[in-house]
Amino acid sequence: MDLMQLLGIGKATFSHGVHPPEYKKGTGSSKIRRLSFSPEMILPLAQHFGAPSLPVVHEGQEVVRGEVLAEADGFMSVPLHSPATGVIRKIGLMPTARGPKTESIVLKLHAGVSQEVLYGAPQNIADMTPEALIDAVRNTGMVGLGGASFPTHAKMRIPEDQRVDTVLVNGCECEPYLTTDHRVMMEYSMDLLTGIEVAMKATGAARAIIGIEDNKPDAIEALLKACPADGNVTVGVMKTKYPQGAEKMMIKALLNREVPSGDYPAAVGVSVYNVATLTQLGALLPQCQGLIERVVTITGPGIKKPGNYLVALGTPLRFVLENLGFHGDADHLIMGGPMMGASVASLDVPITKGISGILVLTDEAKSKQTPRKVWPCIRCAYCVRACPVHLNPSELGMLAAKRQYQTMEEKFNLNDCFECGCCTYVCPSAIPLVQYFRIAKAINRENRERVA
Ligand code: SF4
Ligand code: SF4
Repeated sequence: MDLMQLLGIGKATFSHGVHPPEYKKGTGSSKIRRLSFSPEMILPLAQHFGAPSLPVVHEGQEVVRGEVLAEADGFMSVPLHSPATGVIRKIGLMPTARGPKTESIVLKLHAGVSQEVLYGAPQNIADMTPEALIDAVRNTGMVGLGGASFPTHAKMRIPEDQRVDTVLVNGCECEPYLTTDHRVMMEYSMDLLTGIEVAMKATGAARAIIGIEDNKPDAIEALLKACPADGNVTVGVMKTKYPQGAEKMMIKALLNREVPSGDYPAAVGVSVYNVATLTQLGALLPQCQGLIERVVTITGPGIKKPGNYLVALGTPLRFVLENLGFHGDADHLIMGGPMMGASVASLDVPITKGISGILVLTDEAKSKQTPRKVWPCIRCAYCVRACPVHLNPSELGMLAAKRQYQTMEEKFNLNDCFECGCCTYVCPSAIPLVQYFRIAKAINRENRERVA
């Protein structure tokens, strides 16, 4: 009998989805370790969804670890803090994982100086109004650390005509290889509960549920023990299935509510946050500190010392990999997990706020991950049975091949596709469906912008 049966806990889930191999054993059980500081750090001003931050420092200026380097530009933006004590070497265009060069601050570290963090005056969450809390969240520079990089304070501002009754905390971590959230739940559970308190107070929610897949029994046990006795924060055990951690899947599985097409979770009374986001927030906000580092899973068959590492934001990928024993080449790198992550073509890009994992694949592992030969669709409908939002990927794929992007959107709900990759994963013809859908959405977006 397993832990869940002993506790009499049922396991929630959603319909469809896939079961890729997990590859989590190696890093899931190893404690978070700190990576040393690189001599130089690259800090893009656009590390979040929304307007890039505005620099308030100049080249040659000395800065202290934790100091604000760039301020938020409007509500849908966040400030950027210095990850180390040093001097601003350059403000200009630098490469990023997304591809094009982007405006960045380059920080040169002072060797041998104290790397003590600059804090503000302590803040007591219990004394703060929801508005004051949302401002304080914004001051931390916090964004969704699960990968979306949506400013956290903006998510907490609930539209006036909506009410949120439940905060859902995403501890599913359903992507293969990644174990950041698993370790964060195990090692920083009290910070997570503080972050949940902030989210509940800011959104007005009366309860919170931490959703965890049943392949992490130790994290479930740790959080069941840590949750307060009043029952307002509980653990929801979920079946291990990809993409269980997607917002709409979690809401359906744990609350049996359906977010309407094109709408947000607040429309059904829910606000969803990743565990790493709320854990960092719970650590930073009470001491008025900014986001300067994050936990990253660095793993895969092409790395000698895989693990979960606390990495200063801005650390170049080359420095990270050289420290941990990289024995592949730049073509084999994925930022994020294998299902939704993106390939990285250069080692000269920095770790940014939204990067939860770096996957280093060898030639052999890569060929298993991405078969090259594409065959015609055989109408097997595996993709239809896998799609968690019940689209018809086969039909969408055929329309994409004919470049009928508008029809895909208007008649086949292309915009409901959240690019989970389940259809591509199951397709026996190796049709790169999700890549087609990304292109189709980008072209439709461009066309709309051209008309506007
Ligand atoms: S990538 Fe899109 S179409 Fe394919 S399974 Fe996921 S949501 Fe469905
Ligand atoms: S899984 Fe692939 S081959 Fe099968 S119906 Fe879908 S697109 Fe066609």
